Amino acid sequence: MIVKKFEMSLEILKLKSLGKRIGSSHAVNSEVKSELSKRLAGHKGEQSLLYYLRQLPEKEHFIFHNLRLQERDYYFQIDFLILTTRFALILETKNIMGTLFFDSGFGQLIRMKDGEEDGFQDPLTQARRQQGMLGKWLLKYGGVRVPIEYFVVVSNPSSIIRTDPGKAHLFKRVIHGDKLPERINGLGSKFKLDVLDQRGVKRVCKLLLKSHRPAEYDALGRFGLSPSDISIGVQCGACGKLRMERVYGKWYCADCGNNDANAHMSALKDYFYLIKLTITNQEFRDFMLLESPDVAKRLLNELNLGYSGSNKGRIYYPKASVEDISASL
Ligand SMILES: [Zn+2]
Repeated sequence: MIVKKFEMSLEILKLKSLGKRIGSSHAVNSEVKSELSKRLAGHKGEQSLLYYLRQLPEKEHFIFHNLRLQERDYYFQIDFLILTTRFALILETKNIMGTLFFDSGFGQLIRMKDGEEDGFQDPLTQARRQQGMLGKWLLKYGGVRVPIEYFVVVSNPSSIIRTDPGKAHLFKRVIHGDKLPERINGLGSKFKLDVLDQRGVKRVCKLLLKSHRPAEYDALGRFGLSPSDISIGVQCGACGKLRMERVYGKWYCADCGNNDANAHMSALKDYFYLIKLTITNQEFRDFMLLESPDVAKRLLNELNLGYSGSNKGRIYYPKASVEDISASL
């Protein structure tokens, strides 16, 4: 059963908003694009694992995607967590093309592709760290001691996995996605004793969901940008131009003639992702290139937003958490 559903990460949503609003001639444009495509590749890799995870018996496997937990000042993020009454399993996913060499001596991952070598942080070390932190976390906050296993899953089926001679035991931990169902069933045979009952596992599921802390990602700051670096305006869904005008109750694009009553919703999402999580009537007009305070007020009131204050001092904000803005507007 999927407890925390598979979604695009906040980083990807924010980078998409930024990509729309940074001019193609801007110095960081290609950096933004490459960061976005790197993260989209990771997302696609994780998505491909869903196919295998869905093959697991639903009632016995509780699946979380992208879970981020806090312990004091530290956070740890888990790509997939699978909880059962007998064990928990962490999946650290890697979608890297080429030949992957796990250098156990130096604790790093080297990718060889087209005659070039790139170094990456060792995902086995990352997964082991998550294993340790999750074990402590579950004991401290849930009062339960659950055996925790981990796999590094290479989601790209054509990637070749290698390691030093004599270190073949690493392959018990590093696998391709298609091996997942078999390996998870193998864990079922290894851990035969229940450490949680059905009620206990549901309680831990609730606790994990409630304790998820979305990652903070400052998309502008990441590229050394300030709000004045991005283009404002309402974007036309047909031609992509950022200067739709509000005419007779609809947004109208003078460039291509497209009409759209709700184009401001996507622009407001960009504002929340890139600028800040509150907006006043004046800020809304400035960002949407809208003149009338009355029209702005009506549009803001029609949206499913929370607010505080009254008249000119009214501040609107999304009711949902930052990860759910898209669905809530
Ligand atoms: Zn247009």
